[in-house]
Amino acid sequence: MSDAASPDPRASLPAVDRFMALPAVTVLEADWGRPTVLAEARQLLAETRQGLTSQDRVPDTDSLIRQLASRLSAMPGRGPRPVFNLTGTVIHTNLGRSPLPRSAITAMMAAGGSTDVEFDLASGRRGERDHHVERLLCQLTGAEAATVVNNNAAAVLLTLNTFADGREVPVSRGELVEIGGSFRIPDIMRRAGARLIEVGTTNRTHPQDYAEAIGPDTGMLFKVHPSNYVITGFQRESGIGELAAIARAHGLPLAWDLGSGSLVDTSRFGLAREPMPGDALAAGADLVTFSGDKLLGGPQAGIIVGSQEAVAAIRRNPLKRALRVDKLILAALAAVLRLYGDEDALRREVPVLRLLTRGQADILRLAERVSPQMAACLGPDWRVDVIELASQIGSGALPVANLPSAGLAIAPVPERGRGEALDALHLRLRRLPVPIIGRVQQDRLLLDLRCLEDEAGLLAQLPELAAS
Ligand SMILES: *Cc1c(COP(=O)(O)O)cnc(C)c1O
Repeated sequence: MSDAASPDPRASLPAVDRFMALPAVTVLEADWGRPTVLAEARQLLAETRQGLTSQDRVPDTDSLIRQLASRLSAMPGRGPRPVFNLTGTVIHTNLGRSPLPRSAITAMMAAGGSTDVEFDLASGRRGERDHHVERLLCQLTGAEAATVVNNNAAAVLLTLNTFADGREVPVSRGELVEIGGSFRIPDIMRRAGARLIEVGTTNRTHPQDYAEAIGPDTGMLFKVHPSNYVITGFQRESGIGELAAIARAHGLPLAWDLGSGSLVDTSRFGLAREPMPGDALAAGADLVTFSGDKLLGGPQAGIIVGSQEAVAAIRRNPLKRALRVDKLILAALAAVLRLYGDEDALRREVPVLRLLTRGQADILRLAERVSPQMAACLGPDWRVDVIELASQIGSGALPVANLPSAGLAIAPVPERGRGEALDALHLRLRRLPVPIIGRVQQDRLLLDLRCLEDEAGLLAQLPELAAS
């Protein structure tokens, strides 16, 4: 019943200026910047005012602040922020690949100010950026020299451009892969100025196929780890040793793009063995390229290890300057490389290796602890089950390896409109202060808990989820 004496509730909504001055709103400015918060606050208040009739109760200030925070958290443009990766893909490219070890984060903070990144403290002259990691990389791979660029795609581009600009490069048809995110070997070769000469067939390429493709215009031999797919069955891949013999006979450099390139034998962690950069060099490759943020477990970087001569040629390429790495990355990479050499330290300190080797029993226990709290938070409309899952390594490393894992399967109880309900729930999870990213599969939202280490942090968000 309308009371003529009561004022229109719309008038009691706070004015933008007053709203912006509230301490809880000011706090948001630190995260988003004042212009963004102001624009969202204006819009929120305007929409709220519009939606109200004279009979409605005005939302209280706390509720308005919560709505503002939730709108802001759904907005891009604040810079990358932490999320819970519960997708089941450990090295998830869209979620920042490797979580960094503590020591790497500390090293980056220390390098944030002025550093000797390209300064030789002994002589007081200009120094070499690569020197911060070169010795470590050489010790770990047996290489004579090493250099680092922005990512492995850059390492491949630079390698091809250095040795095969305007020249031919025979590559096996079984290795003309697309890695994802539009990185395709034929395209990158063209951009590097190299002419691709396809050799062999998709499933079988013999050393002779390479030998026959070599002519006066050949610049180098190039082998690619197919990363995210495998060819099984009637299959023949030319080994790096076989290619090295051909390359040597023709006086050509040989490079192998390893992609992930682990610096530890992954079979020691119960995974299949990935080819290692050191093995490739020992078998005769002149250069090996691999990523810093895949199985290595470090920051985004492209690592090139090889002979003194080949690495020196790469350093002389002017493109190297365009692809160079930042001081923060060098600091983090050096810190990660220092952990190698001690297997216990690796398993303990390098998150990628710790997460990949996490036992299913451990993850199941975690799921049993989280499940009832999640169920209580979601209420009777949702069913939460603990289930066994299979995680993947991701980023093209060991693509067929499935890691026994566990997690939560969340499904709406009224089975009608399931798809929409699931999408809405996933959106609520992604709008939390630390967004939770799972995957929707077979009418369920799956949260693989392999990568959940901050259990308390996740649980602390449940009240917020319940309120959303
Ligand atoms: C991942 C990958 C790349 C690209 O490496 P980025 O570090 O992502 O740039 C290139 N080649 C292979 C074989 C890969 O697996």
